[in-house]
Amino acid sequence: MQHTSPIPSATTEILARRLFEIEESQTLAMARKSRELKEQGIEVINLNLGEPDFPTPDHIKAAAKQAIDDNFSFYPPVSGFLDLRKAICEKLQRENNLHYSPDQIVVSTGAKQSIANVMLSIVNPEDEVLIFSPYWVSYSGLVQLAQGTPVLIKASLENDYKVTPAQVAAAITPKTKAVIFSSPCNPTGSVFSEGELRAIAEVLAPYPNIIVIADEIYEHIHFGTKPFSIGAVESLKDRVVTINGMSKGFAMTGWRLGYAAAPLAIAKACDKIQGQITSGANTIAQRAALAALSSDLAPTKAMNEAYLRRRDLIKSLLDDIEGLKSNLPEGAFYIFPDVSAFFGKQYKHYTIQNSEDLCMYLLNEAHLSLVMGEAFGEPNCVRISFAASDAHIIEGMRRLKAALAQLS
Ligand code: PMP
Ligand code: GLU
Repeated sequence: MQHTSPIPSATTEILARRLFEIEESQTLAMARKSRELKEQGIEVINLNLGEPDFPTPDHIKAAAKQAIDDNFSFYPPVSGFLDLRKAICEKLQRENNLHYSPDQIVVSTGAKQSIANVMLSIVNPEDEVLIFSPYWVSYSGLVQLAQGTPVLIKASLENDYKVTPAQVAAAITPKTKAVIFSSPCNPTGSVFSEGELRAIAEVLAPYPNIIVIADEIYEHIHFGTKPFSIGAVESLKDRVVTINGMSKGFAMTGWRLGYAAAPLAIAKACDKIQGQITSGANTIAQRAALAALSSDLAPTKAMNEAYLRRRDLIKSLLDDIEGLKSNLPEGAFYIFPDVSAFFGKQYKHYTIQNSEDLCMYLLNEAHLSLVMGEAFGEPNCVRISFAASDAHIIEGMRRLKAALAQLS
């Protein structure tokens, strides 16, 4: 992965080496680039950043307003308010069959920070972290920030982008410290079944020192049976870190609130790190999260229905474009077509050698913003978010089809 860093070279002597060892988040980079075009008055269709296009449900907003009036304006406990941590434990028990106690919960400024806390808590410089690939863009960067080595286990389209137990077994070495994956998966939309996760758990069972990090941030966005939580498998007891948050299921990306449920030692370590970095998550967002987790999931379910409709819409439009191959997403709000049939093709001064070239061509010529598969460990693909209106999906796919047809 070699992407242009936005850090000017004149500053390289000032900045720490670690800055040059990690990549810029490509999801955020594409969002920035399309914002720049928009500022020039160009009408860009953004299917890049993965965030719900719905506003936060009213009862959650009302709880936040109330929290301001109730003077929740003081520093919170570093790991989060106790009543929120209790509500998280109840939710994990009720919905996921996971048994954590409130002292095992650390509430943070988004699930991204939760993952960062965990990596900084467990990874030593010589450690390897297994990442099921295609993977969410920040996993490798966060492992590298913690000075560990990301080890990608590559799944293929033929296997619905799900790694097999045999692949996991083959990737384990004495240096393996942890394994991380998301299910439903960003960027492929794949969802591991209970049977598949139990088979992977069986492979991990003989290695009690390997920590399993299950990123369940898309749990509410699924189009089949409810996703299974690997932390519910008895043989992995006491070494699964479950990551979740408010961003996706409750349309609260900007509130920046996530959490980790972890073995006690890891939870204490996250608390210690967070105590030095942020002092804890925003109090108003915490009160809003408490309301969200303790109330009816009707708004979440309504959003899920809209995503299902959009999944079907985008899949049928993509299937109509010759040369693209994609799996059927079972969850999350992304589709990840293989675009390699277009590599080697040209239009004007553009030569498409990889998915980054294709994304830049689509952005500049078709004003359609997607994210290159390289960012997710799969250079043959591009990621398309369908957390967008039907009109944007239809127009985006029209532009994609026309731009691809121009390549020869
Ligand atoms: N995990 C995955 C798989 C994601 O797609 C994201 C992006 N929302 C996150 C974690 C981080 O979420 P947030 O920091 O917004 O809670
Ligand atoms: N997780 C979203 C995505 O993958 C938001 C961007 C980010 O947090 O990096 O697009």
